[in-house]
Amino acid sequence: MATNRTFTMLKPDSVEKGNTGAILEKINSAGFRIIAMKLTQMSIDEARNFYSIHKERPFFNDLVSYMTRGPIVAAVLEKEDAVNEFRTLIGSTDPTAAAEGTIRNLFASSISENAIHGSDSDENALIESRFHFSEEEMF
Ligand code: UDP
Ligand code: MG
Repeated sequence: MATNRTFTMLKPDSVEKGNTGAILEKINSAGFRIIAMKLTQMSIDEARNFYSIHKERPFFNDLVSYMTRGPIVAAVLEKEDAVNEFRTLIGSTDPTAAAEGTIRNLFASSISENAIHGSDSDENALIESRFHFSEEEMF
């Protein structure tokens, strides 16, 4: 996979609140092309695996409960410098620190329930994309 791709999840709170259309509009308007997308729900084992880097953190169990409580929209996105551009578009982890107009500023309710995921490196973008999609599902 080229390094101009990133991976995102519109988290369960975004689906529950009916915000997926508005968030996808922001993503499209920012110039990202959708390479793959699906509505899916992670199992507890999948979420523990996906977030294994955080397994020693105090918020880990709450994070797994949150991310598995309902469906998410998983997607692979393409744009020049996709990882960095997308992290800028979504804003800081804590929505109270997220810049005006960013997706987390507009749609997140707390540092825990923060609306959206974005990969933090090209390497993780590839790992996370493959976690949710086969090569045949990425266009
Ligand atoms: N999280 C949390 N409490 C914290 C930090 C993070 O519940 O103090 C959750 C939040 O949903 C966040 C996810 O764990 O998006 C992964 O944390 P990370 O530090 O990787 O933030 P991100 O890369 O999503 O901005
Ligand atoms: Mg992260």
